[in-house]
Amino acid sequence: MPKRAFELIVSGAGPVGLATAIAARVALGPRARILVCDPLLRRPRRSLLAYALSAAPRRLLENIGAWRRLGPVQPIERMEITDSELRDIVRQSFLTFEADMASGEPLAVMVGHDDLVMALIETARASSIEFREESISAIAQRGTSVEVTLSSGETLAAGVLAACDGAQSIVRERAKIPVVSWDYQREAIVATVQTERDHEGCAVQHFLPAGTLALLPLPSRRFSIVWVEKPEDAKRLCEMPKEDFEFELQRRAGHAFGKLSVVEGPQHYPLRLQIARRFHAERLVLLGDAAHTTHPLAGQGLNLGLRDVGFLMQQFADAARLGLDIGTAEQLEGYERSRRAETVVTLGTADTLFGLFTTPAARALRDAGLGIVDCSTPIKSALMRQAAGEAGELPELLRREPVDV
Ligand SMILES: Cc1cc2nc3c(=O)[nH]c(=O)nc-3n(C[C@H](O)[C@H](O)[C@H](O)COP(=O)(O)OP(=O)(O)OC[C@H]3O[C@@H](n4cnc5c(N)ncnc54)[C@H](O)[C@@H]3O)c2cc1C
Repeated sequence: MPKRAFELIVSGAGPVGLATAIAARVALGPRARILVCDPLLRRPRRSLLAYALSAAPRRLLENIGAWRRLGPVQPIERMEITDSELRDIVRQSFLTFEADMASGEPLAVMVGHDDLVMALIETARASSIEFREESISAIAQRGTSVEVTLSSGETLAAGVLAACDGAQSIVRERAKIPVVSWDYQREAIVATVQTERDHEGCAVQHFLPAGTLALLPLPSRRFSIVWVEKPEDAKRLCEMPKEDFEFELQRRAGHAFGKLSVVEGPQHYPLRLQIARRFHAERLVLLGDAAHTTHPLAGQGLNLGLRDVGFLMQQFADAARLGLDIGTAEQLEGYERSRRAETVVTLGTADTLFGLFTTPAARALRDAGLGIVDCSTPIKSALMRQAAGEAGELPELLRREPVDV
């Protein structure tokens, strides 16, 4: 059996895996050996995804030193929600949220996937995180270590293995952790579009009969669009000539921002709800999409994943301060307890919204509901606090106070 050389091995160099490795450096100190494995390390797939990051996950990125390495980001100052039929001439707004002018805190901040991963890789290198451009092919628990076999056949041992290898996680499969999962029978079309008129940081979510169309503001008068359709329609739309695609997009988006011209994309992504039955096994934890995936209409997938990182690291830091082993069943159960309820509620809320907005008969009900929420400042404030991820007790890395890095 190889000697336990690493405190932590992370499988997956997506945003959650990289944030886990850097945050572990903060939690465990400079002497801990931390390794990230990903077969696509030097040739990551180019992604058009852009994330609306809420306040607490953003603070995690600030507290681990990655935020300052990002290029220009776009704050969302206002959000409008409309509910209409495709043929309606006006997309009437039923609910609006405004940024809190007093605190200067935007509703969320838009960050491109590729920019975020680049900033995290730079931060990880500066934090002496080690990398292997390999996948993990086998795992075995041995005493107080987990033994990890890489695709090259090399075997390494660590105190804990963090599975951050995405929705199709091999590590989760090897650990025989089952998932509860269902297919939404919808795909998200993602593209970057240029607008004619300035969006002034306004995000718009149009609820239409087939699904949602979100226009999420990016710097330089651009939007990241997330447009949900049935799989056969998504395929047809993505394969049509650019001018026809733009015409269909404009029909749905309306003319509030002038002409919309596609500058990148479209790409399309299947949508599933998925949650692992357990977020840990012996010497193993699941974070991010390896643990849960959700419908993007509430923009919560990565936000949840970064919150996983904050809660796991609080567990690790508390154990390390007392000189305890970070990978015992008790520690990993503590992480699971801190994450399961919030994850189930977040996935359930997105699922309920999806059902409510794709049932034509529920339109009168939801419009009445949206109208009531729009008129009630306390309900809106509570919803905004929930979306910002600031409800309940937060671990250190998700709080506002700066942490030593
Ligand atoms: C259309 C759309 C819009 C979205 N919008 C938002 C939003 O606005 N806000 C938000 O919070 N979330 C959003 N999300 C969700 C977000 O994209 C995911 O939650 C997030 O990317 C998950 O990150 P991750 O690091 O867990 O997984 P991934 O990004 O999937 O990364 C997994 C990594 O693991 C690597 N890997 C795979 N197999 C192995 C292996 N065997 N060994 C080692 N490495 C491996 C992969 O190469 C990859 O680098 C959206 C999702 C979609 C589809």
